[in-house]
Amino acid sequence: MDFRFSPEEEAFRQEFVAWLEKNLPDNWDPSRYRNYDSTEEWARAYCDFQKRLSDAGYVGLQYPKEYGGQGRTLMEEVVVLQTLASTCIELRVPGVVTHGMAVPTIFVCGNEEQKREFLPKILDGTHIWCQGFSEPNAGSDVANVSTRAVKENGHYILNGQKVWTSFAQVADYCILLVRTDPNVAKHKGMSYLLLDMKLPGVEVRPITQITGEKEFNELYMEDVKVPEEMLVGKEGDGWRIAITTLMFERAIGDAMMAAAYEKNLQIMVDMARQCRRAGKPVIEDPIFRQQLAQNYIEVMVLKYHGLRSLSTQIQGGIPGPEGSIGKLLWSEPNQRITESALGMQGPYGQIMGGSPWSVQDGHWQYGFLRSKGNTIEAGSSEIQRNIIGERVLGLPKDMSRAARQ
Ligand SMILES: Cc1cc2nc3c(=O)[nH]c(=O)nc-3n(C[C@H](O)[C@H](O)[C@H](O)COP(=O)(O)OP(=O)(O)OC[C@H]3O[C@@H](n4cnc5c(N)ncnc54)[C@H](O)[C@@H]3O)c2cc1C
Repeated sequence: MDFRFSPEEEAFRQEFVAWLEKNLPDNWDPSRYRNYDSTEEWARAYCDFQKRLSDAGYVGLQYPKEYGGQGRTLMEEVVVLQTLASTCIELRVPGVVTHGMAVPTIFVCGNEEQKREFLPKILDGTHIWCQGFSEPNAGSDVANVSTRAVKENGHYILNGQKVWTSFAQVADYCILLVRTDPNVAKHKGMSYLLLDMKLPGVEVRPITQITGEKEFNELYMEDVKVPEEMLVGKEGDGWRIAITTLMFERAIGDAMMAAAYEKNLQIMVDMARQCRRAGKPVIEDPIFRQQLAQNYIEVMVLKYHGLRSLSTQIQGGIPGPEGSIGKLLWSEPNQRITESALGMQGPYGQIMGGSPWSVQDGHWQYGFLRSKGNTIEAGSSEIQRNIIGERVLGLPKDMSRAARQ
């Protein structure tokens, strides 16, 4: 099997690399985990850069022109996304829900008006979207959502609370899971709405994470009036559409994450050459060499798994439950990679960026703390293993859930 790009794809990649060299934001430092001090500044940088990409024709390559896309191929989209991931993944993060979930869900499940109204504004950087699925009593068991939507005179009236809503404080719209019928089985009484975050009654309260950043939020809705045109699919179809969103969330990133991690491993090798232990560079220590090799192997497994999922999607498939394998393959190794890096720094591993004593300006300290959320966000590792056991391998149902349903 040949994993290289075709000559045409390689030529396109080189053209894009040349464009990128001239068009990254001023003062962009690729060696830093975070270039922006606040979520608002970070989101503005994302929107500006997305607009620049859009003006140059490098967004939505696989989507039709009438929806703001370029009408090209999924493979060309992958060329662009992989190059961005290995060059400036940070600039893409505020758009993770926007591009990884909102775009494919609206494209696959939305009606014609929704596609024409929203996809162009998402692709050209006008809109940021967030995802309102999780609630205080509905995380792993997302079918337990209790945010109520009651239909009244052409509107849904919303009351309830979401939590862990990433980038809600800067989002224009939210893909929202609500309960429209509390009197039927849990999975059948849910619906999927597109919520304008500027509507009266929507309140966002940021939550501070272990990194000190305010990336996610609580989202409160009190008597929010959403026009019924904002319903995706039919009333009661929410569970099926939410699963479609989650499959896209878990599947899209593998090949991109592998590209970002390969770049990060280069940064780690540079560090291992500079850090010294017992008078020698750490890279000469057999224990750390072994760890580096293990980290590299895990990144290669992710890369080839990503290529396998990609080939399924190129053949026209919507990603299936095997997306859970990729989710495990990017989230758990990232925790091990950042842990290895801190180990190599020895006592300096405790020093955060900003100190004259910090190594690589705290790049790995930030990464270590942020990676803790990786095995929770987009569904915890335990849930991914349940999905793989039940839906990929066909093993018996997880008894704790079976008993509740
Ligand atoms: C950084 C970050 C960003 C996030 N962004 C968003 C967002 O933008 N939008 C959004 O809607 N949500 C978001 N989330 C929420 C995320 O999807 C949930 O945190 C996740 O689904 C787990 O739900 P929970 O926190 O309620 O934990 P719980 O579901 O209460 O789980 C607690 C623990 O129990 C385990 N567990 C639960 N059920 C089972 C079971 N059946 N078998 C075995 N173990 C089980 C879990 O694995 C976990 O360890 C984000 C989370 C993080 C960390």
